Amino acid sequence: MKVGVLALQGDFREHVKASQECGHSAVEVRRESELVDIDALILPGGESTTIIHLAQNFNLYQPIKDAIASGLPVYGSCAGMILLADRIVDGIAGQKTFGGLDITVRRNAFGRQVDSFESDLTFHGNQLHAVFIRAPWVEEVAPGVEVLARAADHPVAVRQGNLLATSFHPELTEDLAVHRFFFDEICKGR
Ligand code: GLN
Repeated sequence: MKVGVLALQGDFREHVKASQECGHSAVEVRRESELVDIDALILPGGESTTIIHLAQNFNLYQPIKDAIASGLPVYGSCAGMILLADRIVDGIAGQKTFGGLDITVRRNAFGRQVDSFESDLTFHGNQLHAVFIRAPWVEEVAPGVEVLARAADHPVAVRQGNLLATSFHPELTEDLAVHRFFFDEICKGR
C-alpha cells in the first residue's frame, strides 16, 4: 500500500517510519497532488490548531475533507484525533476540524491532571504501552463508533468505518499493533 502522512507539522516522520516498518511505502503529503493516489492517510500528533491552519493555507482542507467523505481510510493520533472529530470541547474559538468521526473530543483533557504520562492499556485485545502528550480524550461517541481502548474511564481509541483515532502516540513507541490494526483491519477491505 501507499500511505500518505500529512506532513505540515508534528511527528509525521515517526508515522512514515512505522508505516514502512509495517511493509508499506509512505509519502509525506504537503500538497493536493500528493493525496491523489494514496491508499490511506495518517494525521500525526502535533498541534491541531497549527495543522488545520496550515492545511487551509496549503489548500489541503477541502481535499482532505473530500477524501474522508469518499471513504479513504484515515488514522489520526492525538492532534490527528482532534482533526477527525466532528465536535471539540476546549478548542480555540472557531477551531475547525476535517471531521468525519462522529465523536466529541475534549482537547488537552488530561492536562488538568497530568500533562503527559504513559500507561499500559488494552487496545482491541492487545496489551500495549501508550504515550499520552497533552492528549485529548473522547467525551461522547455516537452509536456507530466502536471504542477500542479506554484510559481514565474515557475512550482513547475509537473506530468508525474507515476512520481510526487514538489519543495516544503509538508512533513514539516500537509497538506497531495500532498501525497494523489500521493497515490490516481497516485498509484491507479497500
Ligand atoms: N494538545 C494538542 C492539540 O490540541 C495535541 C497534542 C499532541 O498531539 N500530542 O492539538
